[in-house]
Amino acid sequence: MEDGNEMDIQLIEPVQSLKDEVEALTGNNVVIRRRESYCCLTSVQPANTILSYHFIQFGADNDDFIQHAITHELLHLVRLWSVPPEKRVMMEASVQEIKTGLMFLFNEPDWLRVDEYDTRTKLYAIICRSVINSVLDLWVEGEVLRRYADTQISHEQADYYDKRFREILEAGISSFNIPTFHPRASSIMNASSYAFYKLFANRVMEADDLIEEISRLPYSPDMGERLIEETENEADRRNHKDDVMLVDRWADVLGRSSWFHWGTRWQEGVADKDGYSWEYYH
Ligand SMILES: [Zn+2]
Repeated sequence: MEDGNEMDIQLIEPVQSLKDEVEALTGNNVVIRRRESYCCLTSVQPANTILSYHFIQFGADNDDFIQHAITHELLHLVRLWSVPPEKRVMMEASVQEIKTGLMFLFNEPDWLRVDEYDTRTKLYAIICRSVINSVLDLWVEGEVLRRYADTQISHEQADYYDKRFREILEAGISSFNIPTFHPRASSIMNASSYAFYKLFANRVMEADDLIEEISRLPYSPDMGERLIEETENEADRRNHKDDVMLVDRWADVLGRSSWFHWGTRWQEGVADKDGYSWEYYH
């Protein structure tokens, strides 16, 4: 069994110290693995009764930002462990909830076709988390800056968001522009993206010029502005419990409350027969 002593990356300081902090806080090692081709930048699966370590994976193509991205994943674990185990809930989905989500995204009755089901369920999980859950990343990224100002980590962070902002401003649309999606799916993705990046420019980067540029994007801003309103009203978000409340508000505004429920099943390490995995994707 992996024990976390061997990793696919040499962590720099202060990331190594943060990894030590997470291991002391949670009582589990952190294992970090490099993947040749990966669906996303990084992911983290928290340790449970079956998986004895926290499992972080990263794509091979993102070396420029990787220390920052791993820092981000480690801070998710810190946040999750900021409350007692019974309150450490993650998004879970029943078969019905996955079906509801997939029907909305793809609008096809044959959602259970075996050959594509894994891919679609994974997409569902990624979208569910990155669209509804992305509000959590505002705290994580703010924490990165607060803890690690003027380190390589904050420079990688600035470069990463500079690149993302440029992509978004150039494309004028969210990066979730996957052709197989039903067009209506784009509206919630764009609203989420709009709100996240406008809040990020405001709260984390304090960059007025970016806020203005984002405001000029051709989104239908109503839903996006409502997300921002819901978030602005929560000035003091102290721990994971506040995150859950805020995610629920985003899901409500986006009309996606029927896509998931909160639970602690992930802690039992239940191998989900429906393909649902307990991971944060980025
Ligand atoms: Zn995150």
